[in-house]
Amino acid sequence: MKIAVLKEGAADESRVAATPESVKKFTGLGATVAVETGAGEGASLSDADFEGAEASVGSRAEVLKDADIILCVQGPDPASLSGAKQDALLIGALNPYAERARVEAYAAAGLQAMAMELLPRITRAQSMDILSSQSNLAGYKAVLDAAAHYGRAFPMMMTAAGTIPAARVFVIGVGVAGLQAIATARRLGAVVSATDVRLATKEQIESLGAKPVFVEEGAIQGEGTGGYATEMADDYKARQAELVSSHIAKQDIVITTALIPGRPAPRLISDAQLATMRAGSVIVDLAAEAGGNVEGCVAGETVERHGVRIIGARNLAASLAADSSALFARNLFNFLSAFWDKEAGGPKLADEDEIVKAIRLTKGGQVVSERLVPAKAEPQTA
Ligand code: NAD
Repeated sequence: MKIAVLKEGAADESRVAATPESVKKFTGLGATVAVETGAGEGASLSDADFEGAEASVGSRAEVLKDADIILCVQGPDPASLSGAKQDALLIGALNPYAERARVEAYAAAGLQAMAMELLPRITRAQSMDILSSQSNLAGYKAVLDAAAHYGRAFPMMMTAAGTIPAARVFVIGVGVAGLQAIATARRLGAVVSATDVRLATKEQIESLGAKPVFVEEGAIQGEGTGGYATEMADDYKARQAELVSSHIAKQDIVITTALIPGRPAPRLISDAQLATMRAGSVIVDLAAEAGGNVEGCVAGETVERHGVRIIGARNLAASLAADSSALFARNLFNFLSAFWDKEAGGPKLADEDEIVKAIRLTKGGQVVSERLVPAKAEPQTA
């Protein structure tokens, strides 16, 4: 079983889908690993580091030749995969909704494309979950970026020249990224409050020493189905907007992370609400790539409105490439090793398996994902 590890092609991508650690683990399973020259550069991993882990290092054509499995972070340009073996597995964050044409091209090339971001949120899949591992780092980095743009200190400081008050941080959306943002802001000494539509997060917020600020009526009970939020009713949205209006004017930093799977991010801060914030305040919108929680936010840019800086966060995990690659690589190893069949000397990905079904995009020259090709309706009987 040969595993190829690609050098990422996207301009803002510095992560790599394998590390010397994961290479050694794959070798332990009996596989051979070929890493594209320079693949680890952005994550401070040299070709020699990979060679030290007994990987071979070579050109794209060399690593793809006879590879049964191709590992990537973002989906590669299909044209760059010419020479890949029929039926080879292509595994990474393939962004299938936005990159539909690529998915079609992977199918046409006979590849089995597997989109790791579509993993179901079940206990068995936790150690394979690239969204969790990358969101956790993004939540941490969002707070550091906010601190870097904020012209004041985070902790309260009592000095001979007088006292500096602690920064007030408000986190909207308390999933994986939001929880890490709360923890990081607390470690920096900020006074932190947070809100979510899922009531189970209230206790989690308190356990991190932050203050929950909630609309209870009409909120989602418990964790919500699979930990996911849904589009809220209009009266809930109105009450939530009132709550944000009354709270936000007293905040210095706002970190927004609210996402609804398969839908644009909910708009939670309006331009009018922004205008009530003190000049010099900073907002980091981690939902920027899904349309943004904040009016006026631009993904990948920092804009200023009413004296407030709005950072449209994009791929923050890549700015911590050594750690994010290490976790991403472990996620991919955990996925493949869970399905590894010793006798076959490789993964056996049964079509009916819940995980395989959720993430498989293409097989046998076709797009097979039900998320992309809805299942055919039952034929009508006369
Ligand atoms: P997410 O990225 O889907 O959303 C981020 C947060 O935004 C969520 O907490 C969501 O409730 C919140 N949100 C959505 N709309 C909102 C609105 N209008 N106002 C305020 N908040 C809003 O979430 P996530 O980080 O992926 O995780 C959510 C939950 O799923 C967590 O409890 C996490 O522990 C769980 N989870 C479980 C697994 C697993 O079991 N394998 C994996 C990942 C996450």
